[in-house]
Amino acid sequence: MTKKSPINKTISVIIPVFNEQENLAWLHDKVAKYLADRDLDFEIIFVDDGSNDGSLAAMKQLHTQNPKTVRYLALSRNFGKEAATSAGLSAVKNDAAIIMDADGQHPVELIDTFLELWHAGNDVVVGIRTSNINEGFVKKYGSKLFYAMLKVIGGKTAVAGTTDFRLIDRKVIDSFNQLTERNRVTRNLIDWLGYQRVEVPFEAAERHAGQAAYSFQKLLKLALNGIVSHSTRPLKVIALLGLLISTLSAILGVVLAAQKYIFGDPLGLSVTGSALLALFVTFLVGIVLVCQGLLALYIESVYYETQNRPLYLIKESS
Ligand code: UDP
Ligand code: MG
Repeated sequence: MTKKSPINKTISVIIPVFNEQENLAWLHDKVAKYLADRDLDFEIIFVDDGSNDGSLAAMKQLHTQNPKTVRYLALSRNFGKEAATSAGLSAVKNDAAIIMDADGQHPVELIDTFLELWHAGNDVVVGIRTSNINEGFVKKYGSKLFYAMLKVIGGKTAVAGTTDFRLIDRKVIDSFNQLTERNRVTRNLIDWLGYQRVEVPFEAAERHAGQAAYSFQKLLKLALNGIVSHSTRPLKVIALLGLLISTLSAILGVVLAAQKYIFGDPLGLSVTGSALLALFVTFLVGIVLVCQGLLALYIESVYYETQNRPLYLIKESS
């Protein structure tokens, strides 16, 4: 069955790979067969992220067998999925890129919907994971907790389940390639870029073969990074907390001291000197927190400067 797309466009499928030797040929056949039926030119770019199994050899073989449709890049060591994806994106010359995992968890069948929405004028088509059949307890609830935290801390309505499985248009790729920050979470950065965006829910499949490489530690790092690089609200919360502590302890201290020393303890509280001292110390702790928050705001502005993101991005012009 041939699905005709309105214009003959070219797309690149970017697949970051870390120790996926049993998945590559299988996934390649699936994707290549699927896309060959569509009226578009495609290529698959495998990015080997320093695998220590036969993944690189497998992609070389796929490239030899399909020199026109398969390309590969090999990073010098394991830099992480985010870096691997960026490497893939900077190698794309086509009209759009689709990013997908090598393990088959991202359903190839969704690509038709991605393409349709792209042809309809969307620049970023995002796969939203509704459920994961074989997700571990920690990961499942960890990610729920993360999004709840992000909402509170980051003050953003982050979409739960947002993934790297997405299609992005040429102009978004060009904008992405302008970003220079080192600590990056690809999906957050693409969302930061803006442009016409649409979401598509999907159910993540089980891994075809092998084991997920993301350890709890790596995920935690990714989560912290996601919060820190996109929100400075935690810094402001510290300063506000300090202000609250100082104000409350100051009021309480003044009221109690006046009650005891000026009015001669009419309430019969017999507040001791050390209680007042404790209040004074609390007051000072609050002041320290406020100062820390202020310092943090300076660091924030330095941080944003060093991220060196483009000041703006132009969607179109006459
Ligand atoms: N991956 C990578 N570098 C890494 C870890 C993972 O390129 O350091 C790739 C991996 O080969 C897969 C994708 O990133 O294509 C998602 O990894 P995984 O399946 O381990 O994570 P999860 O499904 O738990 O998100
Ligand atoms: Mg996976």
